[in-house]
Amino acid sequence: MSEFPEADLKEYSLAELKAIEAEADKQIAPGRSCGSCSMCCKIARIDYFQKPPGQWCPHCNIGKGCGMYETRPKVCRTFFCHWMQNPNLGPEWKPDKAKMYLCVELSGQRLAAHVDPASPGAWRKEPYYSDLKRWAVQAAKNETQVSVFIDRHAIVILPDRDIDLGIVGRDEMIVSTKEKQGDRFVLGAEKIKRDDYERKQKEWAAARQRVEMEKIQKPGSDWNPS
Ligand code: SF4
Ligand code: SF4
Repeated sequence: MSEFPEADLKEYSLAELKAIEAEADKQIAPGRSCGSCSMCCKIARIDYFQKPPGQWCPHCNIGKGCGMYETRPKVCRTFFCHWMQNPNLGPEWKPDKAKMYLCVELSGQRLAAHVDPASPGAWRKEPYYSDLKRWAVQAAKNETQVSVFIDRHAIVILPDRDIDLGIVGRDEMIVSTKEKQGDRFVLGAEKIKRDDYERKQKEWAAARQRVEMEKIQKPGSDWNPS
């Protein structure tokens, strides 16, 4: 499972590229192939070509495939969207039909739906929205995250609501939050500056510690972590 890789500008020989491709192909679920889909060649930012998100790669023959298939770079040989990897996703999730591709990112911490900016409401349609909500329920249990991206516009999907974070800059990141309100925890999400992450982690650790102390000090509590 992979997110779109950063540019690897090293020049590889064709033999090296084919070996890399053979290894990467092991990620593909049986029976899956891109076929006429080229959605990632449009939606993703591809640093190797300095291609911005949401614009077709200049090498793409739309609806036919890659115009430089034999010599395409490593980044194009090693990326597979989640539909290519997960045999449990139905044909409706094929990206050229869904108008978005799914991707497992941040070492499994986030399931992202990257939407074609030409169809920005695709994720709200059915069956996609219900699937995203169902996965958000699982994500809440696993402390992971489900997010929709339309270019850099991010929407975090939670079991009970969606949080529109607006544009998330390249110097920012999305973090999931869990806040104690009375006797229950409320899930949320916010964007923070990447530089601020360490300070935030300390704040969250302190908040967790306060909650644990409340449990211990609650009258009648015999809660004991050891
Ligand atoms: S979005 Fe997925 S199915 Fe479509 S071309 Fe990219 S990897 Fe292949
Ligand atoms: S080089 Fe080919 S595979 Fe790579 S992004 Fe462009 S069209 Fe897609």
